[in-house]
Amino acid sequence: MTEASGSCVKPQFDSGGDFINELRREVELYLQPRRTRLRGRLQLYAKTVVAFGLLLAAWSTLVSDRRGVWLGLLCLAGLVLGTVLTAFCVQHDANHGAYFRTRRFNHLMGWTADALLGISSYTWRVKHNVAHHTYTNVDGYDDDISQVPFARLVPLQTPRPWYRLQHYYIWSLYSLMVLRWQTGGDAIALIQGRVGRSALRVPRRWDLVGLLAGKAIFVSWAIVVPLVVYPWWVVLAGYVGFTMATSVITATTFQLAHCVEEADFASAEQLAAVRRNWAVHEVETTVDFCPRNVVLTWVLGGLNYQIEHHLFPRVPHTHYAHIAEIVQRGCAKHGVRYTAQPSLRVAIRSHYRHLRAMGRLGLPVEIEMG
Ligand SMILES: [Zn+2]
Repeated sequence: MTEASGSCVKPQFDSGGDFINELRREVELYLQPRRTRLRGRLQLYAKTVVAFGLLLAAWSTLVSDRRGVWLGLLCLAGLVLGTVLTAFCVQHDANHGAYFRTRRFNHLMGWTADALLGISSYTWRVKHNVAHHTYTNVDGYDDDISQVPFARLVPLQTPRPWYRLQHYYIWSLYSLMVLRWQTGGDAIALIQGRVGRSALRVPRRWDLVGLLAGKAIFVSWAIVVPLVVYPWWVVLAGYVGFTMATSVITATTFQLAHCVEEADFASAEQLAAVRRNWAVHEVETTVDFCPRNVVLTWVLGGLNYQIEHHLFPRVPHTHYAHIAEIVQRGCAKHGVRYTAQPSLRVAIRSHYRHLRAMGRLGLPVEIEMG
């Protein structure tokens, strides 16, 4: 086993090719009618109204009406759902450039990540759009598969004895993800000047203003105003519970698409030895789940169609269900492995088994004699 994270070889992919060119032509054809594009955008905007409305209703009730624990818990549940919808259906599309036509408006809508989620959209675009989308499941480059030294998600990462239990304890790590990014993750990435191996430049002018103003707005509504209304320990408990719930939902959604038995992983050295086509790499390192579950598709912003999202990140997610049919046909024609888990249960079991296998792989095996 090698610690591939120490590699200096930059991963290279072959771009273009018949597979992705044909898919792009078919998707363009599907999106050609103005009616189709308008329908997709209106669905996206309607969802945004629901997400922001839910956040506003839950938060204003929480800080203005103290009629008991149950109402408080209901408001927190509303905040969690509103946050998940904003994260998956609004900021994710906007920061990919799929929400509006212009970059400026997309960045402005993407800034909801700063103000409403407490996470820098400036850092997110490097962490997610560059590190994760360009180098999907490439060890050392894709920050989403790096939990070393707490967990091992990729066969190339060095085995440690404690990883043997990672399929039990990793859920508590997932539950801290959002809190980590809100408190120190953004700052550490900005100080280091990189996410994975992708450069993260110091934000200037409007990027810097957006980052600082976003943090100030988030801290004001999420912590300062509740502290005026409630005792500090109620705010602390509510805030920790709220971030843990949103973290587990967010982390699990992304992990079910990439950290499962059916997904490929690679190192920069492997990609240097055998050049892969980028589009084929994206399909084979990604897995869809519950493709026919309309409710889940709506809530997760189409992230159960991650294959389609990775191939067409600049298309609004409201089109993924249609694009999936095109991608499946293309994969069958070009011999590209396309995997869609039939249910959430199957997807979670596959992630669990992958974690268990990664935890055991490479450790000395005790052989029972007699
Ligand atoms: Zn994305």
